[in-house]
Amino acid sequence: MKKECKIAVLAGDGIGKEIMEAAIEVLKAISQKYGINFQFQEALIGGSAIDETGDPLPEETLKIAKESDAVLLGAVGGEKWDNLPTDKRPEKGLLRIRKELDLFANLRPGKAYTPLLDASPLKENLIKGVDLLVIRELTGGIYFGEPRGIEERNGEKVGYNTMIYYEHEIERIARLAFEVARGRRKKLTSVDKANVLEVSAVWREVVNKVHADYQDVELEHMYIDNCAMQLVRRPRDFDVIVTGNLFGDILSDEAGALTGSLGMLPSASIGERYALYEPVHGSAPDIAGQGIANPIAMILSAAMMLDLTCKLPEAARDIENAIDKVLEEGYRTGDIWSPGTKKVNTKEMTEKIIEHIL
Ligand code: NAD
Repeated sequence: MKKECKIAVLAGDGIGKEIMEAAIEVLKAISQKYGINFQFQEALIGGSAIDETGDPLPEETLKIAKESDAVLLGAVGGEKWDNLPTDKRPEKGLLRIRKELDLFANLRPGKAYTPLLDASPLKENLIKGVDLLVIRELTGGIYFGEPRGIEERNGEKVGYNTMIYYEHEIERIARLAFEVARGRRKKLTSVDKANVLEVSAVWREVVNKVHADYQDVELEHMYIDNCAMQLVRRPRDFDVIVTGNLFGDILSDEAGALTGSLGMLPSASIGERYALYEPVHGSAPDIAGQGIANPIAMILSAAMMLDLTCKLPEAARDIENAIDKVLEEGYRTGDIWSPGTKKVNTKEMTEKIIEHIL
């Protein structure tokens, strides 16, 4: 466990500010319980940064982020900035910070909370007990590969991209995936299309090579088409899934959809030196400023930070268990409310969670 954790707090826009306040309150409770000292430094990003400085990612924010152990990010965007040119919009700040921090891996858990099983599109007997994590390579693969372009050949238009992975890119994400799997149920599924793609043959070879250092973790390989199917047929069988950028983009959304609720989905993006933690959802302008947003995705993102950056897994488990209990007691924010449960606002939900931590 670290004694101190320096955190850049980038609340952003819309409900970003409300859910960030909630996460900070929870972290203060963790500090009280475990004696870890958090140093929070706030900075602007997104629309609020545009309003103050004209730039969705001001230099000062980037500096603060790079001087921190971790970045906690709320959400960016809103109608007010929708008509700006693409490179001046709030979302550009988000893309730029991920790139500047060289975050090569995106981690997205998909966990089924028993009291919320009816929010899932799957039948209860399939979704019950699901607890998986998709690790997506984020800075390589077909989204960045060269050559790419649109041109004319033989009198017609063609578009093309290149799916390319270097050994070192595969090795670093495979290593991270094995490490994370080691701290969970010790099962890793590597997803590719090795029956068709050469890039996948190299992917598989490197993952197998890294496996030699992690013999305590069970490794299986699966083709992307089969994995997409098995995720809805038997999601409980998965623990950690590691895959490239394109396949991971699709699988992480699929895994998120399994559990049903956007307000419950956290994420982590990890690089060699930096890490950024943020909820999957956006700034929810339709409910912003009302104090009714679900803070759980943001609080769970802070829990991932405690686990992966602050090396305080007990505190992360405390938060997860507290959320389980609060849901079992029937407390719900509006987005996950159903008849017979007790509707609470952001602040009340946060207080309930903290009560179970302390
Ligand atoms: P959204 O995720 O903000 O909202 C979709 C729906 O889910 C809305 O009805 C919203 O009220 C609800 N919702 C989302 N999070 C919630 C929470 N924590 N509690 C309760 N309800 C919640 O997506 P959108 O409406 O498509 O986008 C709104 C803005 O957010 C846009 O400007 C978009 O560009 C931006 N956006 C930002 C991010 C990010 O910052 N990472 C991600 C997606 C969208």
